[in-house]
Amino acid sequence: MNLCSAKTIKELMRIFDLSPRRTLGQNFLIDPGVVERTAELCCEGKSENILEIGPGFGCLTEKLAERYKNVVAIEIDSRLVPVLDFTLGNRENLKIINADVMKCDLGEIAAPYLSGGLSVCANLPYYITTPILMLLLESGIPFDYITVMVQAEVAARLCARPGSREYGAITAALAYFGRAERLLSVPAGAFLPPPKVDSALLRIRLHKEKPVAAQDEKILFRVIKSAFGQRRKTLINALSAGFPELPKDALVDIVLSCGHPADIRGERLDIADFARLSDEIGRRLTGQK
Ligand code: SAM
Repeated sequence: MNLCSAKTIKELMRIFDLSPRRTLGQNFLIDPGVVERTAELCCEGKSENILEIGPGFGCLTEKLAERYKNVVAIEIDSRLVPVLDFTLGNRENLKIINADVMKCDLGEIAAPYLSGGLSVCANLPYYITTPILMLLLESGIPFDYITVMVQAEVAARLCARPGSREYGAITAALAYFGRAERLLSVPAGAFLPPPKVDSALLRIRLHKEKPVAAQDEKILFRVIKSAFGQRRKTLINALSAGFPELPKDALVDIVLSCGHPADIRGERLDIADFARLSDEIGRRLTGQK
């Protein structure tokens, strides 16, 4: 059975009496070339094991199971579990978990697969791309790579440079955990049903050792969120809104002592600048200065 085809997916939907749920971001891949490349490129051969989020009808899952030692796939839609059993039930190296990725214990799911190296590979549901990415990044699970199909616009944001229009809080946060690279541009016609936007395959290589260390990650992410929360404002005004417990003159002092002009905007700062700023703010918050 060729799972990467509109004909097969339509036939499976007919047999199992299903229709795609837009609320679950169900746009199924039907381009075998894109699926093959995704499975091939997702971890540069570094991991033996793959965690997939949202296997759907299993077209990417099948290619992953052909290439890698173990595949564990988390699917929220219980209607798809019997379909996956029908299409891929004979694969001994595949485990399907019927759960919401946002609610399950990822650490427990990942633990048996870490010794051979584990990467994530997924055609993500677009309604929940950023929360899933942040969940994976903040999980502390030592993934080798996180390779995801996302909207082209999101890929541009995640790969943006400081100072560019696309650079935002998610770009800076991602830079703390790893380095993102856009691998493929994928047209809407590669999916059934086609989404309204084009897509891109993004590969994030997780830092084994973080090049930038922040003393308190919670404060770092609060600083980043504040800096981009008020994009039109100067960094000082944006921080002032995000840290009402600190007097404005203290924030002026902090920004200047970190070597920035008083009128700088948050979008100019890279992750090392944010880490320095967050350490200074952390010291003021705990009354060390
Ligand atoms: N991998 C399949 C493919 O490429 O054809 C399906 C990809 S489709 C874009 C997204 C998949 O994620 C759907 O199967 C959907 O049911 C599933 N999904 C949506 N939200 C989820 C969640 N919170 N947890 C786990 N799976 C989810």
